Amino acid sequence: MAQVLLKGIWKRYPNGFEAVKDFNLEIRDREFIVLVGPSGCGKSTTLRMVAGLEEISDGTVSIGDRVVNEVAPKDRDIAMVFQNYALYPHWTVYDNMAFGLRLRKMPKAEIHKKVQWAARILEIDSLLDRKPKALSGGQRQRVAMGRAIVRDPKVFLFDEPLSNLDAKLRVQMRVEISRLHNRLQTTIIYVTHDQVEAMTLADRIVIMADGKIQQVGSPLEVYERPKNRFVATFIGSPAMNVLEVEYDGHTLTGDGFTLVPTAGQIEKVGSYRGPLTVGVRPQHICLASTEEGSRFAATVDVEEHLGAEKFVYFSLAGKTLTARLESRDQVTEGSKTTFAVDMNRIHLFAPGGENLMVDSDPLHQAKPREEQA
Ligand code: ATP
Repeated sequence: MAQVLLKGIWKRYPNGFEAVKDFNLEIRDREFIVLVGPSGCGKSTTLRMVAGLEEISDGTVSIGDRVVNEVAPKDRDIAMVFQNYALYPHWTVYDNMAFGLRLRKMPKAEIHKKVQWAARILEIDSLLDRKPKALSGGQRQRVAMGRAIVRDPKVFLFDEPLSNLDAKLRVQMRVEISRLHNRLQTTIIYVTHDQVEAMTLADRIVIMADGKIQQVGSPLEVYERPKNRFVATFIGSPAMNVLEVEYDGHTLTGDGFTLVPTAGQIEKVGSYRGPLTVGVRPQHICLASTEEGSRFAATVDVEEHLGAEKFVYFSLAGKTLTARLESRDQVTEGSKTTFAVDMNRIHLFAPGGENLMVDSDPLHQAKPREEQA
């Protein structure tokens, strides 16, 4: 068990490309940390630097109280689980799981005990004599996890371990990984591009874009209080709707609609006047039932039934937006419908992307219109 400290980490590839920029994070002992972000944002590179598979250009990585920059991967007390399982095809499940322990010259009886123990936890004890090709994808991934847990590492590193599995199996394995974490009580660093996986597994999520940390927080925190537009639109499914508007101190005016901000929002925006982006989650748009409140009329493009609820896609100001409605709400595809926005739940983003509803120092980067000119 161990904490992991990443201090001022940079990764510059030989071609000069900066894949990770000034990454700082203190991972607590036994914490489940998920690095999430779009393809190419630098999350795998960060994980591989912790594992020792990638050289660190600048900064220090500590595991426990030891700086490991110069420590070989096998001596870092970590175990890594990869997307492609990396199993030896000609060996049995037992031998695949025992391999690392044999390398370390662990006595045979002890290896046997460990492999049996891990196999029981992962419910693969009946598969120990099989070869990987006789296993399903989910079973292979369990073997890969088994091989990692027999080693009793201080830290587990997972690199997109579920991305080769079908949707149903992914959900099932997600639950198993959570259970495994509860049972083993070890520190886990987990990389995925799937925000649902991140939200369901993590104690804290690290959202990355372009090699930089955008926000670190609990799943609820990053969902409720996204620091910027990127985080707001990346976290949440369906994604948050965004609308470009002009703010004149009283109203938010877009192409063909006007929204009235609350007194609290007006206070947070302060003296700024000019372009802003409104962010509204699909569940905070409903069918307008009265003539009051912030409303807009839009044409319903598509209605998607999910059983208990439905997603309605409509066009406004040249954009496709989503509303999450109740199944019984009546809409007609192709017809003009009036929607209402729950203005208490909107976010307002400055031109630089900062969420003005969350930042304690509003508009610290966005310049008033006169200064922009
Ligand atoms: P994915 O989900 O696609 O794996 P990622 O967030 O894990 O994405 P990384 O694999 O960490 O991204 O890569 C980060 C960036 O570094 C990418 O833009 C990638 O093209 C670049 N990169 C990776 N390896 C090298 C290399 N050897 N030389 C130059 N650039 C590289």
